Amino acid sequence: MTDLADRLRAALDHAEAVARAATPGPWRREHPDWPNTSIGNGDRTVIASAAGHGGSWPSAEDAAHIAANGPDVALRAIAAHRQIVDVHSDNCGSCDACGEVRGSEFLSVPFPCPTLLVIASI
Ligand SMILES: [Zn+2]
Repeated sequence: MTDLADRLRAALDHAEAVARAATPGPWRREHPDWPNTSIGNGDRTVIASAAGHGGSWPSAEDAAHIAANGPDVALRAIAAHRQIVDVHSDNCGSCDACGEVRGSEFLSVPFPCPTLLVIASI
């Protein structure tokens, strides 16, 4: 079954295209000591900015979270996930990376293995 690996690769390709189309990172709060939520990349580029409305005010913690998860971070995570998907490939119905040695016997793990299923759950 390679459908799961193919779907994961397609999802990673899409996520990479989205991250590469975004303003390059790293992103950060433009004025971390101010109570605003402008996020930029330090190059005078405002990536996102929020204003209060109806008694609700933007959260500095939310802005910090967004800034900490810019496209540079996403691209590193995508590259790591792609390596995991490549290593945990289908080898005649078993995972090419997972298995267990018991005595002189090697017990293979059916594909998709638990590692690949965890990646698929993200
Ligand atoms: Zn595996």
